[in-house]
Amino acid sequence: MSLHLSTPVSVLPGIGGLTEKDLRNLGIISIRDLLLHVPFRYDDYSVSKPISQLRHDDTVTVTGKVRQIETRPSKSGRVTLTEAIVEDGSGEIKVTWFNQPYLEKTLRAGSMVSLAGRVDSRMGRTLVSPVWEPAGKRVHTGRIVPVYSLSGSLTMRRLRSAMLSALPATDECLEFLPKDILETESFPSRSDALRSVHFPESRQELDAAITRLKFEELFLHQLMFAEVRRERLVRPAHPAPMDVEFLKSFVATFPFTLTNAQRKAAWEIVQDCEKDKPMNRLLEGDVGSGKTAVAAIAIANILHAGGSAAYLAPTEILAVQQQRSLSTTLEIASVAPLSRNDKVFISVIARSPQTTRQSLVALLTASQARIGNRDVSRKELLSAVLDGTVRCLVGTHALLQQGVEIPNLTLVVVDEQHRFGVQQRKALLERTPAPHLLSMTATPIPRSLALTIYGDLDLSVLDEMPKGRKPVMTRLVFLKDKQPMWEHVMTEIQAGRQVFVVCPLIDPSDTMGSKSVFEVAAGLKKSLPDHVRIGLLHGKLSSDEKAVAIETFRLGQIDVLVATTVVEVGVDVPNASVMIISGAERFGLSQLHQLRGRVGRSDQQSYCYLMPDSWSPDAKERLMATTRTTNGFELAEIDLKLRGAGNVFGTAQSGFPDFRLATETDVPLMKKARDWSARLLETDPRLELHPLLREQVKVSLDEVHME
Ligand code: ADP
Ligand code: MG
Repeated sequence: MSLHLSTPVSVLPGIGGLTEKDLRNLGIISIRDLLLHVPFRYDDYSVSKPISQLRHDDTVTVTGKVRQIETRPSKSGRVTLTEAIVEDGSGEIKVTWFNQPYLEKTLRAGSMVSLAGRVDSRMGRTLVSPVWEPAGKRVHTGRIVPVYSLSGSLTMRRLRSAMLSALPATDECLEFLPKDILETESFPSRSDALRSVHFPESRQELDAAITRLKFEELFLHQLMFAEVRRERLVRPAHPAPMDVEFLKSFVATFPFTLTNAQRKAAWEIVQDCEKDKPMNRLLEGDVGSGKTAVAAIAIANILHAGGSAAYLAPTEILAVQQQRSLSTTLEIASVAPLSRNDKVFISVIARSPQTTRQSLVALLTASQARIGNRDVSRKELLSAVLDGTVRCLVGTHALLQQGVEIPNLTLVVVDEQHRFGVQQRKALLERTPAPHLLSMTATPIPRSLALTIYGDLDLSVLDEMPKGRKPVMTRLVFLKDKQPMWEHVMTEIQAGRQVFVVCPLIDPSDTMGSKSVFEVAAGLKKSLPDHVRIGLLHGKLSSDEKAVAIETFRLGQIDVLVATTVVEVGVDVPNASVMIISGAERFGLSQLHQLRGRVGRSDQQSYCYLMPDSWSPDAKERLMATTRTTNGFELAEIDLKLRGAGNVFGTAQSGFPDFRLATETDVPLMKKARDWSARLLETDPRLELHPLLREQVKVSLDEVHME
């Protein structure tokens, strides 16, 4: 069998049918995809010891002969126990497995096996549930063993074996890092690094491989950014002169007073937009700090100056919500009395503001097109944009598609910007004149790190919450606390408040999370009084159905919304005062913080209940931290510490840019990548002398684009 990077994984032994589908759920189709599925953790079974020398709590590999093996029900009768005695000349040890009766057939008495796991000496020396394989194989034992994320019925054993047989294909990986970087940094070659990251021979080899692969990712990221920046900065921007009187009157229409932080950020933005150099500003503010209001001021300023604006939201739900919110805010402003008649905010509306109330704010997603609160066809919308009737377009990725032409585009706002790839932003930004760019994030990134990740940008920080906000009271809920919790929830509902219940994805292949949502909702229907109105929101709903669910919740026609994490980002229903997070141990810290941020959005006291199903030490620390503080910056720091210990590679959930491998702990490497890319681009700005690297940057840009 000849293996190539592009060969489908189904050629590998043990992969076919169901397992092929499971792999596809993990995004793995080709051998290349498989090799890029890096472990999230390693078990170090590289230490082998004679049985006589085993101590309590040792993590080791033991090799010996099975003397006897038998299966029996446990005392309680709930599990089956398979027990073996294994001897190696120096001594013998008891080995126990739960609910794996077939082992009795596989590991027959007399066979030689390698076992890896932890020794427990509390009840006589025992290896509990060790991994096993025929002696001397060294796939699952006797080495540093990779641990991968799985899906469906795919087992670790099978995936590991498949990975091992795929390794020869790494020979095809061409080196694209420049020689001087490899030499100076003593990085292993690309193919060596990929082999070692799965099956390292030593800790040092593994560390070198991880460093090289992370560097590679960060370096390409820097080069992609440089590419986008170069394209952008050579172009002049559309200066949008500011009109202080207008801005004052606009802000006066808000139902609240701006915080000082909002005022300052808005001021920095409108000043940037006056220049003929494109703005590149990141607005950073914890959940609930009021980024939308700042964005609205930025947009109003642009519309007033005659330009158009685009607002890019990461999810359809959020796009719908922000279009509505901006539509209202900007319309109210348009009918409010202005100081000078000739500077009326929106000229089209000004013709007859009260009667037509034609809004300039439109929505475009994959499934919806609306102008103001009127559903229209995509075609009608696009032509309204083209002729300038619509000058503020809110939407999802759909905005980036071909055929969306926004004349006079002067400002692009990107909400939760880490969710968009470089290439996606590029599509909106690469035009002449270059639009000003306002990126927004709730991720607390220190200034220095932001500069390193995103290159030359300016930063505005909302480090102040709107007045009167009470910190969300956060409690851990165990079985005995459930009754009092629901009693409290009922008093909130009685008082007219609303409740979120968020459910985790139970099975990674069930990416829509409908299963747990249905179960929880069915349970609540039984246990809560009949008059409580329960709604559902999960990924299997069509976008229309999602919009309806959110809208009825917003209108107060649903009391309890049972949802998956589709509510995680940005949903703003200030009347909701309780957030219940079921299976809370399955969420990361920043996700918990985001979810909790859905309540506490008014001057009402709000509550967050964390209901763990189980209780690992990790989860405990995370949940305890969440109860201790509501400060996003503090939580981010704790998160860093906690995760530094556990996972080796980044996860898509951190709120940090979606690197596959690098994490927030890799700042030094990030700086290194930035320095090397700057040095390289000085001598070879278009990478003409490094064709393989140039090709790789292009591929990376396209990949981001496809996601
Ligand atoms: P985020 O920064 O998380 O995007 P939002 O912009 O959604 O926050 O604002 C959160 C809520 O706070 C919204 O309901 C908004 O109307 C309200 N809000 C924003 N600014 C203020 C303010 N200065 N005073 C009172 N409420 C505010
Ligand atoms: Mg927001």
